[in-house]
Amino acid sequence: MINKSVLDYDFPTYLKVIADFTENELIPAENEMVDAGEVPARIVDRMAELGLFAITIPREYGGLGWTMEQQVQLTFEFTRASCVYRSRFSTVIGLCSQAILDHGTEEQRRQMLPAMAAGELVTAFALTEEFAGSDAASLRTTARRKGGVYVIDGSKRYITNAGWADAFIVFARTDETEPGAAGVSAFVVDAKAPGVRTALPTIMNGHAEGPVGEIYFDSVEVPAANLLGGREGEGKGLVMALRGINHARTHVAATCVGQATRMLEETTAHVIGRRQFGSPLSELGAVQAELGASFAEMEAGRALVIESARAFDSGVVPRHRIAAAKLYGSEMASRVADRCVQLLGGEGIVGPHPVPRMWRDVRALRIYEGSSPIHERNLAKAMIKQVGADGTLPDSYRA
Ligand SMILES: Cc1cc2nc3c(=O)[nH]c(=O)nc-3n(C[C@H](O)[C@H](O)[C@H](O)COP(=O)(O)OP(=O)(O)OC[C@H]3O[C@@H](n4cnc5c(N)ncnc54)[C@H](O)[C@@H]3O)c2cc1C
Repeated sequence: MINKSVLDYDFPTYLKVIADFTENELIPAENEMVDAGEVPARIVDRMAELGLFAITIPREYGGLGWTMEQQVQLTFEFTRASCVYRSRFSTVIGLCSQAILDHGTEEQRRQMLPAMAAGELVTAFALTEEFAGSDAASLRTTARRKGGVYVIDGSKRYITNAGWADAFIVFARTDETEPGAAGVSAFVVDAKAPGVRTALPTIMNGHAEGPVGEIYFDSVEVPAANLLGGREGEGKGLVMALRGINHARTHVAATCVGQATRMLEETTAHVIGRRQFGSPLSELGAVQAELGASFAEMEAGRALVIESARAFDSGVVPRHRIAAAKLYGSEMASRVADRCVQLLGGEGIVGPHPVPRMWRDVRALRIYEGSSPIHERNLAKAMIKQVGADGTLPDSYRA
């Protein structure tokens, strides 16, 4: 439940509250989270009280309704802490709420968004399957109409918050004669519905405290009213996914900047304090070169995110720029993480320093929300098509 006073904060006050929460509560609780193997319940409650589940949801549906530029500024702050904390509410603020907001019926919005904003209805976004990863449009889960219900059969994997969600947005094929995107629809499915089963992996290499899970649907009956947007197929299902995905990608790009910020703060402090050959490591030119290059790359990543967010707020979804920001940001965060681990020496491998944990965590950012090779491929395809058509580049800045 959101603390009522949070609703009255102006943005600078709210940003400071979240920055303080990160510094005073999230970062100090990281080791507790690692020991527990999950985000502690009291931290999830605090995130709900402070409105972190609500930052993207408009005020009329019980949210805080911050602009995209404000959302990314918040993300720069709270992702100075482990990015696993963000995962706990990311599926609500990005993927799911945005699909419901843009494509749901008014009744679906009124039913779900206020509870999602309050942190009382956690939703997960169930698109990926064993045989449909990068090629999501080839998904095989089916939803067959039977009177007033749809019957869902199939399975999903790698789903963030599968183990914690109260409901899933499930992408399933309603037209089995149509093998691509056009046959796909989206449904809201209660996580406790008969026939739904989830399983968590035993091993996570990164994001260990926020394990992704598998979801199995065995003849799950879903009321027809749970068909998102109230209409089947016509490619609408995957269009709904993409709207949420573009939103989430912008947040992921901002997460990369937040993670790089913390890793560089920690590593710079380390090299100032660590003496070898009679002087602090920070006085060595080779060390300074690594720090300076990392800082410049982090700021380039931040600029891409802010520019995409501003375009977003002006009413355009600059999907190619968003893809570029996500591609660059995630590769940048991994490069920075690798340099930081190197500068920590043995501490980068042995012991509880936060940077090596973040190094493992940021690796996943190059895989989800579109892997780096897929973004490179899609950007190149869009460039070739657009230049072929009118000589300009996609999302062009040309006057
Ligand atoms: C931590 C985490 C959280 C996730 N959360 C969610 C979630 O909440 N909901 C959800 O639905 N999914 C989620 N995913 C799944 C994620 O979206 C997929 O892992 C991703 O789309 C890649 O699919 P895949 O793993 O099947 O890899 P594959 O599709 O098998 O790809 C493997 C590799 O081959 C490359 N590749 C594939 N096709 C091409 C091509 N045409 N050209 C060049 N390279 C190619 C890819 O880039 C990739 O590096 C999550 C994954 C992770 C790791």
